This record gives sequence, structure tokens and C-alpha cells, in this order.
Amino acid sequence: MVVYHRTEQSAYRHGVFPDEHGRFGPFGGRYVPEGLMAALIELDAAYREARADPEFMSELSELLRERVGRPTLLHRVPRFAETLAVPGIRVYLKREDMTHTGAHKINNALGQALLAKRMGKSRIVAETGAGQHGVAVATVCAMLGLSCVVYMGSDDMRRQESNVLRMELLGAEVRAVRTGNRRLKDAISESVRDWIATLATTHYLFGTAGGPAPYPQIVRDFQTMIGAEARTQILAAEGRLPDYVVACVGGGSNAIGAFHAFAADPRVGLIGVEAAGHGVGTGAHAATLSAGSPGEMDGSYSYLLQDEDGQIARTHSIAAGLDYPGVGPELSYLKDTGRMIGGSATDDAALRGLWTLSRSEGIITALESAHAVGYLIEAAERGELPTGSVVVLCVSGRGDKDLDIAAERLGLRSAG
Ligand SMILES: *Cc1c(COP(=O)(O)O)cnc(C)c1O
Repeated sequence: MVVYHRTEQSAYRHGVFPDEHGRFGPFGGRYVPEGLMAALIELDAAYREARADPEFMSELSELLRERVGRPTLLHRVPRFAETLAVPGIRVYLKREDMTHTGAHKINNALGQALLAKRMGKSRIVAETGAGQHGVAVATVCAMLGLSCVVYMGSDDMRRQESNVLRMELLGAEVRAVRTGNRRLKDAISESVRDWIATLATTHYLFGTAGGPAPYPQIVRDFQTMIGAEARTQILAAEGRLPDYVVACVGGGSNAIGAFHAFAADPRVGLIGVEAAGHGVGTGAHAATLSAGSPGEMDGSYSYLLQDEDGQIARTHSIAAGLDYPGVGPELSYLKDTGRMIGGSATDDAALRGLWTLSRSEGIITALESAHAVGYLIEAAERGELPTGSVVVLCVSGRGDKDLDIAAERLGLRSAG
């Protein structure tokens, strides 16, 4: 039974979205205090100029090539594909885990840091949850000679000590946030407060394809090389476009980066895999598109997880990078229009994905990316993948950071 919906036509056209109000259909926009509006408009104008400047774009390309390691590999994983037991299926991995620092986040961090320099800013502020975005930002600030302050919830700092140490070694100042739940959301508020007070010298380097306009577009554009490279690479390898592109969804940056170059080709199925935690029915999950509803959060109108009173819900995922109650406006639009297939994978499915890909191919992915792998395994078991499918799966990051939790949950010997 084939349940995946592939539209014959796509309303999606490159260059149409966002519109002049920073909207993707009804989603996106700018829901911010007055003090921030001018800064966002300045950023928008500076970004448009930079993108039209061949010198800026070629400097960025060169840095991506020489310092990040782009283009990243796209290659087949035949032994993994065999475990799916779908006749003739061919699975390719897009290896963002092989970039410098080991995840896609550096693509956006580098683009925005270069933009900040061009705008004459000498200082970067950023928020971080698990610390992955903070490490990417601290890395590019060291690379480009920018001063760097990263806000992080004090609870997150305790749980992610090695990333705090990495950021400090890279020369960043990590400031503990002790308000609210002492988590990512509180760190975002503190970053915004800092930015409003220091606009003349400072750029706020936002980490995912959400937040107020123009961030969803900026972050998307600085991640679109994932899909653009994959498109060229799969055409060279297969002589045709893939049937499916699969990526995990936290805030949505690696997914929209992987999808964008394929979005106007209606025959390519786009599958965004969210974190179902203990199960979408349990309330302990982070499956925003699957189980949430539209509302306003972090400066934008988009899907989010909220209770009946509009309070932001608590989330759970085994993958820290997916454990967030929101998702960016462009993925919300793609989901609502039926262009994107919204899937989810539980903690257990992700662990199974991690285990299977490690054993069959020698690739230890981040637990975030393992959600996409786990989803593919379960979709194959449900009989949803047609014979002879060609699948591109985005490996957003490497799994070294997750070894402790994987060892405990998978019962590896030394963990006992
Ligand atoms: C942060 C992170 C994610 C989730 O963020 P998106 O913006 O949804 O891409 C996924 N994978 C890895 C490895 C991450 O570090």
C-alpha cells in the first residue's frame, strides 16, 4: 500500500516565498517589540544587498569549501538498504555530519557571521539549547575574529558541560540564564534583550529556520546548499531525481535546507520527521507539525505545541536538538499545503535507526538524524515504500555527542 501523497502540481515556486511581509502563506511575519522592528528591517536590507553581491557570495563559497568541507558527500548505503527489505530500493545519505564541527549548523552560522562583518558589527550574540548551535557560532567567530557571547539556560549548561567547555576554549563567553525554566526559550529571551541594548555593534545569530522575518529566509538560504548539492549529486549517480528526500525536523533548518532545491518538483516526496518522544499520544513528545496548532511564538506565527489556554507545552525528545515546541513557518506552510509529508519517530525508533546504521554501514549519526533513519525503517515495515524507490536521507550531524545516552539506552557493555 502506497500512502505517500505526491502532488502532480506544486504551488511552490522558487523566489515566491516569503512575500514582502516575510510570510509563507499565513505563516511567519514579525511579532516583535518596537525596539526590534528597526533592527530586523536593517538586517533584511543588508541581507538582500549581500545576496546580490557576487563578491560576498564568492567569499562565502570559498570559506564553505576551505573551512567547512563543502560539498559534503552523497553516497549509497547498500547494506543498510538491504535491511529495509524493499525490492530494488536505493538509499543515499547526504553527509552533513562530515562538515567541520560535525553538523549542518555551521553552514548558517558562517553565512550570518560573514553578513554581520559586512554590516560592520564586531560582536555576535546567540542562544543555544544543547550547545550545538553555540559551538558552531563560537567556531565561526574564532575563524572570522568576532567577539562572541552565547546565552544558555543554567539547567542546559549542567547537562551539556562538554559543549560549554568547547565554547570557552573557542573564546566565547557563555552566560548562564537563570530565569524561567532555565532552558532554550529563556536563552532566546536573554539574547534578544542583549541585542536590543547593543544593536550598533552586535548581530543576533539565530540558529534555526524560525523566529521573526527575515530569519526564516536567511537561515533557509544559508542551508539550501544541502539540497542543491544533493540534487546535482543524485542526478549524476542515478540520472534522475529521487522519489523521496527525508530529514529530521527540530526548528526545521536542515529539513528546509535539504528540501528547498526539490520543492518545485512535485514528483519528489518531501518527508519531515519530527520527534515523537514516548509517542505522540502520550503528551511527552516534540511533534509540533503532527500534533500542534498555529500560534505566535519567538516572534513568528507558526505551528507550535500549546495547551488549551495557549500556554507553550512541555516537550520531550531523546534528541536535544529536536526538543523544542516550535517549528519554522516555511515547513508549516509546506505541511499545510500537503507538499511535505509530516512523519514522526519515537525515541525507540531513533535508537533503532542509530543502531542499524552503525552496524550495517559504520556510520554513527546524531540522535536527531537517527529519527529520519528510524522513520525509514518503520515506513518500509509498513509497506509504504514502493519497489525501486530512490531515497535521499539527510544525516544532519554525527553522533559522538550522544554516546553516553546511546550506551545507556542500548545497553552497551561498559554502560552497565
Ligand atoms: C540542531 C540540530 C538539529 C535540529 O535543528 P533543525 O533546525 O531542525 O535542523 C538536527 N540535527 C542536528 C545534528 C542538530 O545539531
